[in-house]
Amino acid sequence: MSYRVNEIFLTRQGEGFNQGKKVIFIRLSGCNLACEWCDTDFKDFTVMEVAEILKELQHWDCRAVIITGGEPTIQNLGPLTETLKKAGYWIGIESNATRSLEPVAQYLDYIALSPKRHAPVGQFKASEVRVVNDGLATEDLLKYERLIDAERYYISPLDIDGKMNILECMELLAKINILSSKGWQISLQLHKLAGIP
Ligand code: SF4
Repeated sequence: MSYRVNEIFLTRQGEGFNQGKKVIFIRLSGCNLACEWCDTDFKDFTVMEVAEILKELQHWDCRAVIITGGEPTIQNLGPLTETLKKAGYWIGIESNATRSLEPVAQYLDYIALSPKRHAPVGQFKASEVRVVNDGLATEDLLKYERLIDAERYYISPLDIDGKMNILECMELLAKINILSSKGWQISLQLHKLAGIP
């Protein structure tokens, strides 16, 4: 089984509950959405077999991967996740909550979902919900709570040319935590503050 791989790199998770965790990002190419503020370049790719991906990972002394995109679920993740799990990797995934994760759920250790305001959202179980505040209202957040049964809920600032709307996130946070008992928090993009990819 081969995959369209945009890049594979060692870094620290910058967002959400696993902030600071040493991980290898496997960024798969392509996405089923086209968010106007998207800051990820996921179009270029190299076709790689599962064995080639595994060999690439072994360059680093790290046993945790995060599969991201683009939207990773537009490719058949079964063979990749099964192989990584058998090789002993902790596997996280980042997805936009538009496509089922059921076929690979058994191999995933951490599921971070980032639904988008302009896209339909499915019903999911997840480790965390992390939404970018591109003008979100409390109704949006309450909708995500209803649809996604998550352990944690985060609001992320929108980053436009290095300017993050952190104050707006704080205001939204104050409002939602009056209406909701889920304990929403803010997730800053720590990797950007640290100047790492
Ligand atoms: S879903 Fe994510 S990767 Fe896809 S276009 Fe939107 S922000 Fe970019």
